[in-house]
Amino acid sequence: MARTIQLDSVNKEYQSTGTAHVAVDDLSLTIPEGSFTTLVGPSGCGKTTTLRMIAGLETPTSGRISFGDEEVTDQSPQDRNCAMVFQSIALYPHMTVSENIGYGLRVQGVPKDERTRRIKEAAETLQITEQLEKMPSELSGGQQQRVALGSAFVQDPDVLLLDEPMSDLDAKLKAELRVEVQRLHQELDATVVYVTHDQTEAMTMSDHIILLNNGRLEQFAPPGELFDRPVSEYVARFIGTPSTNLLTATVAERDGEYVLAGEGYTIPASADHFATRVGDSVTVGIRPQYLSSESGEHQLTVIAEVVEQLGTEFVVHGRTPDGDNIDVVSPTLGDVGQGDELTIGFDVDDVFVFDSDGQTICYGDELTTDPIHQSP
Ligand code: ATP
Repeated sequence: MARTIQLDSVNKEYQSTGTAHVAVDDLSLTIPEGSFTTLVGPSGCGKTTTLRMIAGLETPTSGRISFGDEEVTDQSPQDRNCAMVFQSIALYPHMTVSENIGYGLRVQGVPKDERTRRIKEAAETLQITEQLEKMPSELSGGQQQRVALGSAFVQDPDVLLLDEPMSDLDAKLKAELRVEVQRLHQELDATVVYVTHDQTEAMTMSDHIILLNNGRLEQFAPPGELFDRPVSEYVARFIGTPSTNLLTATVAERDGEYVLAGEGYTIPASADHFATRVGDSVTVGIRPQYLSSESGEHQLTVIAEVVEQLGTEFVVHGRTPDGDNIDVVSPTLGDVGQGDELTIGFDVDDVFVFDSDGQTICYGDELTTDPIHQSP
């Protein structure tokens, strides 16, 4: 039965050459029961360490981990009803696919008939029924990873932990297995935690995303919220492809109103957020998907450098006249050539504003909510 996973002030320090290295730093969060939650972030940010602590393969240096109402911090992995699939496929080479899938059940003493039934069910879900009597060496990488997933599936775990299970597969197999993993989640009554460094995978598969930054929690939210309401420049840049455009601007007061004045554009700024910041440098973030060659309240000049076709859309990689990198995603820019000067529009509602520490000051829809000209 799926269980909530709760981490309270979890820390993990490793000692290397006499100095302590903090791999996971004061992590507190609650992963909802039955959800598909992805741990994402760049290499070394603490994803695997966090997953291994949830599995019981690492003990936190401090803090508590609970499954439902039960604290499991000091419980062994076997006592947690938790299954884990690793990036490197770990199958027993001398056993058939069927024996590999059923091995965990055999160790637990599950009777043969019951084992056979569960192996068959797992194989059907993962579409490997035809392979059940083969040896692992006769399977492709994708099929081997399905067998590894099957071994986890048959155990009917409360918590299923997946550590980059697709990173060694080619793009097509990855796309197929992504669907299998989601199907698996729908059939299992389990809370799934999935580790990846691939933000596209995280965005497409998850109910919730945990984005880590150097061992610390940066944002924990549904994918759409990370895309539309990033709490920091780090989140805005990590989530979404191409990355969020970042333009510098200065907070100014003009004719009694606050504005953000950038190179070639000026946008309104609310007194609530900016009255105490006049003269400050801020960063205006705009997603490439929210820039348009055909509409927008405000305009930017973009000098095109490279144009890529992505299916039905084009990505123009260019620069502003001041040299800031800027990307535009649009279905209508296929005719653009290198060196073309484009006028690109955007709406204030679609921007993010970050302070000099990279923290979000406000979102576009908050820039115009409190005009400072109020009736006396
Ligand atoms: P990747 O995407 O590259 O797998 P990750 O986000 O999963 O990275 P972790 O493997 O959790 O990161 O590692 C987090 C940090 O802890 C890294 O700096 C790593 O070098 C360090 N670390 C992990 N395991 C150990 C260990 N057993 N001993 C010492 N340091 C470790």
